[in-house]
Amino acid sequence: MYYLSTRNNELRMHSMDAIKQGISQEGGLFVPETIPKLSNRDFLELADKDYRSRAFKVLSSYLRDYSTEDLNRIIYAAYGKDNFDCPEIAPVKKLDDSLFIQELWHGPTYAFKDMALQILPYLMTYAVAKTGEDKEIVILVATSGDTGKAALEGFRDVNGTQIIVFYPNEGVSPIQKLQMVTQEGKNVHVAAVKGNFDDTQTGVKSIFTDGRFSKLLEDRGKRFSSANSINWGRLVPQIVYYVSAYTDLLKSNDLDPGEKFNIVVPTGNFGNILAAYYAKNMGVPIDKLICASNRNNILTDFIKTGVYDTRRDFYKTISPSMDILISSNLERLLFELCDRQDHQLRIWMGELNETGRYKLDGESLKMLQSILWGGSADEEQTLKAIRDTYRQYNYIIDPHTAVGKWVYDEYREETRDTKKAILVSTASPFKFPGDVLKAIKGMEYIQGKDDFQVLEALASVSGTKIPPGLSELENKPVLHQTTLAAGNMRQAIINFLELDG
Ligand SMILES: *Cc1c(COP(=O)(O)O)cnc(C)c1O
Repeated sequence: MYYLSTRNNELRMHSMDAIKQGISQEGGLFVPETIPKLSNRDFLELADKDYRSRAFKVLSSYLRDYSTEDLNRIIYAAYGKDNFDCPEIAPVKKLDDSLFIQELWHGPTYAFKDMALQILPYLMTYAVAKTGEDKEIVILVATSGDTGKAALEGFRDVNGTQIIVFYPNEGVSPIQKLQMVTQEGKNVHVAAVKGNFDDTQTGVKSIFTDGRFSKLLEDRGKRFSSANSINWGRLVPQIVYYVSAYTDLLKSNDLDPGEKFNIVVPTGNFGNILAAYYAKNMGVPIDKLICASNRNNILTDFIKTGVYDTRRDFYKTISPSMDILISSNLERLLFELCDRQDHQLRIWMGELNETGRYKLDGESLKMLQSILWGGSADEEQTLKAIRDTYRQYNYIIDPHTAVGKWVYDEYREETRDTKKAILVSTASPFKFPGDVLKAIKGMEYIQGKDDFQVLEALASVSGTKIPPGLSELENKPVLHQTTLAAGNMRQAIINFLELDG
């Protein structure tokens, strides 16, 4: 199977090259030339298998140039009890007869990014070795909070790689920040960038497509790649858990074979929900993809009107990993919607770049609306969703998942659609203990408590232990203190990699 670019559909690449390179030279994103299909029989077979077998079924259908034996070895190493704290890897919990919640945060950094970033380093280093690459791979990451830590954990001390993470100075939660600035490893670099996530992501993207800068690296025996969800190697492992959720519900008889259901995804960069779109096209009987945004509700407006307009205020919210105005992976969906016309993508993305907006034609908008339903939750609504979910189900959700829950309720109310739904839970509530406790117990309860006292309090309210990776943060030394302006990201890379020596 070959990969093409959303801005050049004549391109033909193997998956290893697409994963190694991350983003296409002309700025487009890699997409598979066809979407593999799974049959009803495949799903029934997978229902009796474990997560690793399900992962093999999905990954082997996309990554055809990885050998069976090696792919199995990679999957075995990535999804096991050393790095995930439950054997199901991505367990599905039943809240009531029609609402299920899939917990995607049982990996080492307690957010769903681990689902892909625990395997990406293996996929990438394998690709590097097999393609005869002799350069050191430099992973550049822009993070809205969770990708950074997950990528650092995945790539730390991986031979033949360096990893550089840029996070927005004021845009991540205290725990997210602590997780990153205390990161150990001999190949890791972390810096705060003044500005918001979009500034950081735009900076990183412009470095990727800067031919002169790439040449400078090449001359020093290095090349860039990406661990952001623009990399196909990030997306394809995310398709697995949608297949896994469906087959789990087949096994428990909560769904009949072929029974349609909806998926609710708290969305930022559009990677997670795009993986659900691929799962749907592989044959998982997903009906609506419900796209939940926080106060940065550009996607809600887009789905309603077909106008993608970034000329608006940017808000910092209590669901920081969704504080994004430029959702990169939307480009991959649009490419499919307009029948893979790369010239159309060049026009839309060119307009976005130059004017900050673009507008879909009527046909494409209709297609978009047949697939997606969009809604958003503001801060008060997010807190209320946490509180209500706790009271109704005795189940604690984090602020990102809560945005999804609010929008799901809105969807039910507005459409009267009673199909079953799976809400994907993207982070452990322990990653955002202050806001979660505020929602459940009220502001007075957290006042005067520091971050770690708040963690203790949440543990006692929930009757569960603080995840070990978070409790240990209190005593870890800060190892990364760099703060810089977005304009100085190139210089920071030069310093980190000691390129001017
Ligand atoms: C990254 C993230 C999201 C958004 O996911 P996208 O794939 O960027 O849409 C939502 N919730 C949490 C907790 C995240 O870390």
